[in-house]
Parts: sequence; structure tokens; C-alpha cells
Amino acid sequence: MVEKESDVAMQTSSRNDGMIHPGIASHPGTLRGEMNVRGNYLFTDLCNELSVPFERFGNLILYDNPAFGLILGIELSRRQKLLGVEGRKISRRELRKLEPHITDAAAGAFEYPSSGVLSPYKLTVALADNAVENGVKVSLNTMVSSMSTENGRITAVNTNRGSIRPGLVINAAGVFSDIIAGMANDRFFSIHPRKGECAILDKKKGSLVTRSMGLINLSAVSSDTKGGGVLKTIDGNVLVGPDAYEQPEREDYSTNASNIDAVLKKHLPLIKGLGKGDVITYYAGTRAATYEEEFIIEKSEYVENLIHAAGIQSPGLASAPAIAERICSIAVETLSSRAAVIPNEHFNPCRRTAPVMAKLSLEEKQAAIEANPDYGIVVCRCEGISRGEIIDAVNSPVPALTLDAIKRRVRPGMGRCQGGFCSPLVTGIICEQTGMLPEEVTKNGEGSHLIFDDGKPKP
Ligand SMILES: Cc1cc2nc3c(=O)[nH]c(=O)nc-3n(C[C@H](O)[C@H](O)[C@H](O)COP(=O)(O)OP(=O)(O)OC[C@H]3O[C@@H](n4cnc5c(N)ncnc54)[C@H](O)[C@@H]3O)c2cc1C
Repeated sequence: MVEKESDVAMQTSSRNDGMIHPGIASHPGTLRGEMNVRGNYLFTDLCNELSVPFERFGNLILYDNPAFGLILGIELSRRQKLLGVEGRKISRRELRKLEPHITDAAAGAFEYPSSGVLSPYKLTVALADNAVENGVKVSLNTMVSSMSTENGRITAVNTNRGSIRPGLVINAAGVFSDIIAGMANDRFFSIHPRKGECAILDKKKGSLVTRSMGLINLSAVSSDTKGGGVLKTIDGNVLVGPDAYEQPEREDYSTNASNIDAVLKKHLPLIKGLGKGDVITYYAGTRAATYEEEFIIEKSEYVENLIHAAGIQSPGLASAPAIAERICSIAVETLSSRAAVIPNEHFNPCRRTAPVMAKLSLEEKQAAIEANPDYGIVVCRCEGISRGEIIDAVNSPVPALTLDAIKRRVRPGMGRCQGGFCSPLVTGIICEQTGMLPEEVTKNGEGSHLIFDDGKPKP
């Protein structure tokens, strides 16, 4: 697996809401709908095997007007039947019972219990770690720049770190998937990046929200976005957003104060007690939308050894296990035409895991610290992360060698102070474990150095 960034999950797969949608937002008969419903179903086993925290908190589609609720109900029950999604209409009174802090902005709701949340970057890291444990070679900082083709086959994938002679190429390049297709002379689609911005609120407000929810009204119904909303993240924060708008740049992840303001203005009035002062950070991501607004999961028509997992916009996270299943069967079929494809009998779907101190009981913490005193030294006070957990992250199967890579795995810097206290300590641990110099450690790869000079007078 080649990845141009300094870690996995640096692009859209870490820049989303982490919501495992139930599937009801997709039109019946679309690949997006089919993949979402199947993907949602597969998450329970997948997360158990990978030890990725996952909860089916449920989702509420809220409406502000009872008459609109009736019309919406007809469309949603049609979709429920055709897509095979379980859901029900609930009254205003029941809604207040389920979500006591909801305001009168909502007149009623439809509830979808299969909806879940997880940390999208923890999932991506877990998948990559598990792949490495099963023999996959992950090459970071490796950018595919061109491909050589001969007689309708890719003969070489050329990168900044050398060429690979592939049996099969799987194009899963997100917002760059059309460019990658173009390198193999197979560009039959175009990606137009659709940006979304989100805000994260302090954990102290986490108790005000239990499920994911969004208010829709007739004017907001569009195929571009599910409209965003409010949700409780798997780590206990409240997440607000995203919005959706087209932008030409594929990797412009800047946030804009007026957009974030609009997101907050739209969704905060849903929950009593949430305010702008609770925001601890914001972020943006770009969806890999095609003009057909559909996933492309297929073997190339013209290039014998190329498979596309392209145009994977929302709900791409929720659909990921189903997309992988589909790609796997196309890959086996394609490779079988040249040689026998034998399953890896040693494949282990379960990932090796390390202690997560904040989740352990007192007795378990005591035992972990006795076995390794580094688990008793707290480095990130906001999130309660120990030195031992950071050392584990640095030495994980896909090693975490930047501050953000450590943050994605074990969360130092995710709390209220946003890394103000722990960043120098984490930098020190990376240096001590790897032999890197502090000037070589970056926040998130090339161009994000934290320290430019050792401060000592130069001769
Ligand atoms: C704001 C927002 C909120 C969202 N919320 C949800 C949600 O709650 N639930 C949901 O189901 N979906 C959601 N989505 C959609 C979801 O995030 C995406 O569908 C999914 O992450 C796409 O994954 P991917 O692997 O296709 O793309 P990516 O995660 O972008 O991965 C593609 C990778 O390819 C690499 N790459 C690209 N070009 C090259 C090259 N030339 N050489 C080497 N490597 C290359 C990139 O660096 C990148 O790491 C959301 C999206 C956004 C933007």
C-alpha cells in the first residue's frame, strides 16, 4: 500500500463525522445505498476484531413541522422497505424522553437504531496495523506520480521512491482517484471536491446529547448533503456539522469563521445548554464527489489490472467494509484469470492491542503500571494519556512518528488545551524512541516542523 502522506488517515478518512449512517439518506437502487446498508451491518464484527470502540447510539431525523413530518414519513418508510433499514416514527413526547435536552425546534423525529459512531482515524489506523500484521507492506511518504502501461495492462506504478511492478492496482485515492485513473489512461469520471466544516465541543457538554441527530426542512433537502447535525462522538465530545460546498482545491482544509458560525447557528439551537463558548476546535474535509453523485466500485473496462474504488464521498466511511468486500471479490476474479488465488491461511483478523489507561478500572491500571511503570506517567493531562501509551504508538505496526500520528492513535493533544502542555513531552518521547532530533519531528509531515533551531550560539 502506498500513501503519499506521512501517515495513514491524513485525508478524508480522518476529516469526517465518524458516523456509521444507517443508510436511510441514500436513494434506493443506488450503489451508495446498497454499500451503506451492508457496511453498517458489518461494523459490529469488524470493530470487535480490530478492538476499535464502536457504539450504535442511534440516529434521529428531526422535523420542525408536523405536516412536513407526515410527508417525510411517507418517503422514509418507502426507503426503509426498499433499502432494508429498520426505523420508526416517534412522537414529540417520546423524543423528549430519549433526548431530554432537545429544544422545541424539533416537532418530532424518525429513529434509526442501527446508526453508530466510531473514531474514523482509529479505524483507519487499526486496519493498516492489522494489514501490516498480516504481511502487507505500507510505504508512507510515497506519492504515485505516473504509471507505465503496455497492451492494456499497468506494468509499473512510478513513485517518488521508486517503481513498483504490480499484479493488480486498486485505485483508492480519494479526491485524487480521477487523477490516478488518468495515469492509467482510464479517466472516465471527474472528482469535484465538496468541502465540509465541523466544530468539536468540550467533553463537559457530552452528557447533553446521546444520539446523532439533524433537523431537516423542505428547503434543505438535497442530494449533496444529509444536512449535518449534532452528534456525540465515541470519545464523548459533541460534534457539530458538517456543511457542504464545492471548492476547486482538493486539499484545502482551511476553516472559515463565517462557515463555522453558520454551522453553529444552524445546529446549536437544537440542544439546550450548548453554546459557542464550548467549541474547542474545528476542522474541514473534502468529499470525493463525482458528477453522477455515485460510488465507482468496478474493474476498469480498458485496463486489465486496475480496479477503482473511486468517488467515495459520504457515506464512504459507513460503506467501507462493504466496499472492501466488493473490491476483494473483483480482485480475486481478476487475478484468477492469470493464476490460482489461494487464501492466506494464516490471516488473523484480530489486531494486537495495547492498554488504553483511561478506559481501565483501578485494579487494571495498577496491574498495567506494575508490569510497565511508563503507564503510570501521565503526559497529556486533559485526556489522561500515559508515556507508555505514547511509546506503544511510536512502535506500532505502522509507526507513529509525527505529533498528529500519535494524536490519531492515543489522543494526546485532543483535549481542552489542544496540545499546549503535552506537545514538547510527546516530541521528546518520539526522539528518545527513534533517535530523531527534535528539529526533525513534525506536526504532520513535511513543512510542519515544530523546532527550527537548537537555540545554541553558532560558531
Ligand atoms: C466533512 C465530512 C464529513 C463526513 N462524514 C461522514 C460520516 O459521518 N460518515 C460517512 O460514512 N462518511 C462521511 N464522510 C465521507 C468519508 O469521510 C469518505 O467517504 C471516506 O473517508 C473516503 O475514504 P477514502 O479512503 O476513499 O479517501 P481518503 O481517506 O482521502 O484516502 C485516500 C488516500 O489516498 C492518498 N493518495 C491520494 N493520491 C495519492 C497519490 N498520488 N499517491 C499516493 N497516495 C495518494 C491520500 O493521501 C489519502 O490518504 C464525510 C466526509 C467529509 C468531508
